[in-house]
Amino acid sequence: MVLLDGRKTSADIKDEIALKVKEFKDSGKKIPHLAAILVGTDGASMTYVSGKVKACELVGFKSTLIELPKETSEEKLLQEIEALNNNDDIDGFIVQLPLPKHIDEQKVLLTVDPDKDVDGFHPTNVGKMALDLPCFLPATPFGILELLERYKVETSGKHVVVIGRSHIVGRPISILMSQKRLAGNATVTLTHSRTKNLKEITLRADIIVAALGKPEFLTGDMVKDGVTIIDVGITRIKDDSKKRGYRIAGDVHFESVAPKSAFITPVPRGVGPMTIAMLLKNTLLACERKQ
Ligand code: NAP
Repeated sequence: MVLLDGRKTSADIKDEIALKVKEFKDSGKKIPHLAAILVGTDGASMTYVSGKVKACELVGFKSTLIELPKETSEEKLLQEIEALNNNDDIDGFIVQLPLPKHIDEQKVLLTVDPDKDVDGFHPTNVGKMALDLPCFLPATPFGILELLERYKVETSGKHVVVIGRSHIVGRPISILMSQKRLAGNATVTLTHSRTKNLKEITLRADIIVAALGKPEFLTGDMVKDGVTIIDVGITRIKDDSKKRGYRIAGDVHFESVAPKSAFITPVPRGVGPMTIAMLLKNTLLACERKQ
């Protein structure tokens, strides 16, 4: 069994990006600048955003964090987004999700300039992705492709089963892995909560992407020997034995699935760190495109 080490791979990617930034600096070019908008004080969102800001510092990017109170009106948030759209120094920005209930998420995503949409959530980027045109790929699926590529996991002609059809993970990875591309050319089955006989389907999978948000859902009896497992799930589970009061669980029951796997991502240190690395990669791309 080979562990698909997202922490190490993302560190390699960050080193490659840091080198690029140094080249930019040495040749007098603009340094990439990522901004993040955080509305409210949700614990997980604050952790994700601070991780993104720290990663920017590590590779030498400029970063700007805009923190807004949870009562912020939709109108005010849209104004902040327009200001970032019109700020030439900002190459890309993200609006951390989820947003408070009184704000229309779709309206917000539509307001982001597609050329600065480094999360790849704007319909323009989603449409381009589906048509295999140059665009910003959503960071988590992009990170999964990169992990598979760097570990030379064969995907061509393989049966990939994706569990979960969210707009940010399940659906885009199902599209990307079915395309003619590296880490693609697979035959993909996209499953969801209405899928019948899921176990029959996962038992026929060569590669499983578990992205449903149900801790330790995929167990050893649901997979065949030699399977490759990508565990996207991140759920905080109360655990008083930990200093922070919780532990992080993936969607895969690692103990029973790992012994049957050829390749498997751990949680944490699997897909999570790759997501941040690919956000940086998209920001670098946004900066390069402008020049
Ligand atoms: P989501 O929006 O929470 O949707 C969950 C999906 O799973 C839905 O499509 C749902 O089906 C499906 N589902 C739920 N129960 C199921 C079941 N019993 N059998 C089959 N499918 C089932 O998904 P998400 O936002 O992609 O998040 C999924 C997990 O990934 C979460 O734990 C999240 O925290 C994590 N995540 C991690 C990263 C990372 O960087 N590692 C990034 C994003 C998300 P329906 O559509 O029928 O409801």
